[in-house]
Amino acid sequence: MRTVIITGGSRGIGAAAVRKFAAAGDRVYFLYATSEEAAHQLAAATGALPIRCDVSEEAQVEAAFSQIPDVDVLINNAGISEYGLIQDTDPAKFRRVMDVNVTGTYLCIRAVLPFMLKKHAGVILNTASMWGLVGASCEAAYSASKAAVIGLTKALAKELGPSGIRVNAVAPGVIETDMLKSFTASDMEDLRQETPLQRLGRPEDVADAFWYLASENASFLTGEILNLSGGFVV
Ligand code: NAD
Repeated sequence: MRTVIITGGSRGIGAAAVRKFAAAGDRVYFLYATSEEAAHQLAAATGALPIRCDVSEEAQVEAAFSQIPDVDVLINNAGISEYGLIQDTDPAKFRRVMDVNVTGTYLCIRAVLPFMLKKHAGVILNTASMWGLVGASCEAAYSASKAAVIGLTKALAKELGPSGIRVNAVAPGVIETDMLKSFTASDMEDLRQETPLQRLGRPEDVADAFWYLASENASFLTGEILNLSGGFVV
């Protein structure tokens, strides 16, 4: 039985990943920032174990991982977005996006390495975005943070490969979750039409990609950024 840790697991893509791995019999721990009720409902439904933790806070990450006895797979999914012109993005907002999306990913990786290095095995999966590949207007902070996640993924694939640890990322396109709740129905329809596969992504599409990347079928795959955008970005 693998031990799988999923950050930002209480809703959206993270919750779909919790359901997928738990249903397959993995021992799943998930970190959540604030959604206590949603976290406990998901735990009750899946048997996964919730731990409250803001991934951008070093002390909270250390405390969370000290409760976990072992790790085979880490899925860094927690993330926030920020929309607006760059001149309206104040330094505090810019830093917060980098703190959660980049530093949070780094802190969780740092926390699992002692387990993985000891076993000479492990899988680390990061969540980038198609905007980290090509950049999005009015999402400069978010695009920069996801480009950093891509750089981190590639660098660590090289650094940790000799230690038996694979590091990959998924770069989703438009996925229907709360992250896009400020978009109107008409915005979402435009995005659907812009997607060559003519549908929006589902959280389960990303969970399926995590599942494959974590599996033995992907045992020769590392440093890969899986473009999961329905053709939006090719
Ligand atoms: P979401 O807003 O529904 O979920 C984000 C999750 O991250 C939530 O569970 C939230 O509580 C958690 N989180 C936020 N800040 C946190 C913190 N400081 N510490 C711990 N947890 C924190 O959105 P989602 O679409 O499910 O996003 C999941 C990931 O997928 C994010 O990294 C996001 O950037 C990425 N992504 C989403 C899309 C999309 O279109 N929805 C596209 C590309 C990438």
